[in-house]
Amino acid sequence: MPTSNGLLTRKQFEAQERRTLASYAIPACQSRGRRYPESEHPYRTCFQRDRDRVIHSRAFRRLEYKTQVFVIHEGDYYRTRLTHTLEVFQIAGTIARALRLNADLAEAISLAHDLGHGPFGHSGGDALTSLMEGHGGFDHNLQALRIVDRLEQRYPGFPGLNLTWEVREGLNKHRVCLETSPQKMPPNLSGEAQVVNISDEIAYDNHDLDDGITSGLIQEEALREIPLWRQVGKEIAGRFPRIGAEQRKYQIIRRLIDLQVTDLLQESIRRIRSRKIRGLSDVQNSPEPVIAFSSATERLRAPLKEFLKEELYHHHKVVRMAEKAKRFLTALFEAYLKNPNQLPNTTRRRLKEEDPYRVICDYIAGMTDRYALDEYKKLFHPFEAL
Ligand code: MG
Repeated sequence: MPTSNGLLTRKQFEAQERRTLASYAIPACQSRGRRYPESEHPYRTCFQRDRDRVIHSRAFRRLEYKTQVFVIHEGDYYRTRLTHTLEVFQIAGTIARALRLNADLAEAISLAHDLGHGPFGHSGGDALTSLMEGHGGFDHNLQALRIVDRLEQRYPGFPGLNLTWEVREGLNKHRVCLETSPQKMPPNLSGEAQVVNISDEIAYDNHDLDDGITSGLIQEEALREIPLWRQVGKEIAGRFPRIGAEQRKYQIIRRLIDLQVTDLLQESIRRIRSRKIRGLSDVQNSPEPVIAFSSATERLRAPLKEFLKEELYHHHKVVRMAEKAKRFLTALFEAYLKNPNQLPNTTRRRLKEEDPYRVICDYIAGMTDRYALDEYKKLFHPFEAL
């Protein structure tokens, strides 16, 4: 029921959640709250507000120019970190709603899940990991937490975005302690966060197939050796005998996603029922994740994943780009380290109190592909303007 002015309020959304969410979901009204207490919003729940905070962050906008697999200048068709993130958001929202989990929470975690990636995808991350050895290391999952907890500077009263505990917990794949007073983390993430992890996999397996075929690095003939692809390919050929190659590819990918999501929903609800999962702590302390594929689907997915690894991620063109990225990110890192006064003023200020390795690592991890390339030219090409 809307209030007298015709609007729905946060309290009404919260009441709606209590009526519709499963007992193992996390309703917004039961959030453990924010590190720096804030008053609630009149017409958005705390998780809806977190989702919006992530969208308005600087790190989120940068995802548009960060590599997923294909570097941005290779073409306009390919996924970037941003479009990958939006696909994860869409899949996670669908799964969460069908399982009566809190979709707002799953969506907020989805939008933030890749904020910590540096430029040039995993190769950029690998370069930072080896450069940071002995200096606290680098991990893109922990970096996402650093960004939302510290590095985004938007509010006068506190560092970071001051997100709710549940969104931060969802980003904490390595289960590090989130509080100043050590506290044992339960072995499993919340149902909402588990949904995001699997949605991430569903999204990249399928869009990497799509982009891999579009780029010509993957040959569709070779894919026919993979049982899952062959099975779905036959089904599509039966339904649309005269379909063109481009549409066939989309129809197969579409069906693959649908098939995996459907299996995931059926298996997860089976586990929830058979293990008598009633509340959040049952989810967190269950001996195995509650959100999972059936073993039959896992067996079908394995050769497809292996194929992607061999044919796409280990394709010589992808590996060459990755090695090139490592070389010039390392060169950037070493140049800044040699003389940190080359860093911009706002970053340089942090050097007074912090380890230069960490300051440089945060700076490079924040770069987009394009910014890193420009910066390399500025530092190393003699005729480039500064
Ligand atoms: Mg991802």
